[in-house]
Amino acid sequence: MKKVYLETFGCQMNVSDSERVATSLAAEGLELVEDELSADLVLINTCSVREKAEQKLYTRVGEVKLREGTKPVIGVMGCVAQLEGETLFKKINGIDFVLGTRAVGRVNEAIRKVLSDGPGYADLGEREADYDWSVADAQRHSRSVAFVPIIEGCNKFCTYCIVPFSRGRETSLPASEIIRQVLELKRNGVKEVHLIGQNVNSYRPSTESGLEGFKGSSPFSRLLRAVAATGIERIKFNTSFPRDFNADIVEAIEENENLCNWVHLPVQSGSNKVLKDMRRLHTVESYKKKIDRIKASPRNIALTTDIIVGFPGETIEDFEQTMGLFEYSEYATAYIFKYSPRPDTPAYAMRDDVSPEEKTRRFLELERVQKHLQAKHLEGYIGRTVSVLAEKRSAKSPSDLSGHSTCHRVVNFPGSDGMLGSIVDVRITQAKANSLYGEVV
Ligand code: SF4
Repeated sequence: MKKVYLETFGCQMNVSDSERVATSLAAEGLELVEDELSADLVLINTCSVREKAEQKLYTRVGEVKLREGTKPVIGVMGCVAQLEGETLFKKINGIDFVLGTRAVGRVNEAIRKVLSDGPGYADLGEREADYDWSVADAQRHSRSVAFVPIIEGCNKFCTYCIVPFSRGRETSLPASEIIRQVLELKRNGVKEVHLIGQNVNSYRPSTESGLEGFKGSSPFSRLLRAVAATGIERIKFNTSFPRDFNADIVEAIEENENLCNWVHLPVQSGSNKVLKDMRRLHTVESYKKKIDRIKASPRNIALTTDIIVGFPGETIEDFEQTMGLFEYSEYATAYIFKYSPRPDTPAYAMRDDVSPEEKTRRFLELERVQKHLQAKHLEGYIGRTVSVLAEKRSAKSPSDLSGHSTCHRVVNFPGSDGMLGSIVDVRITQAKANSLYGEVV
């Protein structure tokens, strides 16, 4: 039996693609291994969103090629594969096949082809409709949590982002199929589903099928109510785009206990000038109105965000406005990135005029504020009881279990294997830098 080592970089869409790839590989009789050195095939699922992420592919292929003994077949999947296609064979010596994001459903065909005909095979898929929407049930990152892609691709074209080019235009899966998948996952013991996509609230299926009878001001808020009606214990969704995030989504959360109290709403900058240059299609004022509604909710919704510092033309004043928005929003967590130009995006033509040192300075300054806000947020949980899905043994302390709260906080607590996969009430006793600790009540 051939052994496959599968490595994944990037966002949860890539993790989800890899889970479906792993499910297909297992169905083909291939064995997935944790140890790269024993593998006959090494598959790398790539990310191109930042320069650093793309650089990892070059490093990894080099490392695999240096391995002693029999050389494995190397396959490159994901966004870099979709963007670069066959040019990757010229750019990186030693790659055997290239499989785009739209062709991951045909991974077994690619492997068969390379094993019979030799290296040099590329499949990028024909169009967005080629995307593999199947449920990854056999090979998931967790037995009790499942990712369910509901929309693939992006139509927004933010000026710094390569995703609309790598993943193509938006395509939404009909609600009836999403509901069928959620019900199947629920029957198989899944407790928490994450409805995922680059912009989940841009969800626009071509048919009403599955949404009939569900109220809501947008197809996405109707979908949330439809998925809530399946009775699955927890539903999270990610990522939301500010312009398409409406108050009705908060209302759906308020009406359905199984819609979790966590919203990830990337703002990217607190300056209207920078937002315009980023082509984000929202303003600071319109964003604030949305977060005011989220914060007013009795569901105590945790708000998280993404920020880019050092975008071309970002002045000290622009950056200070980002700092101001940060304090206003009191994010539970923020993912801060230094801008890095991506070839073939409109921002690539802009002058990258914030020096690397200044980008680092702004990053560290914002990170300091973020750490302070996060610590305050986490300390607020001490003495409270939260509902936690026990997902795995803690890597740091083997006597502890680890899982996420409804507001998507990592919570560790002493527990037995018998608790794994169940939802337990944990009273929080301690807050650490990035996680909470407590005891089952
Ligand atoms: S919304 Fe903007 S940042 Fe997000 S995937 Fe689309 S283009 Fe990229």
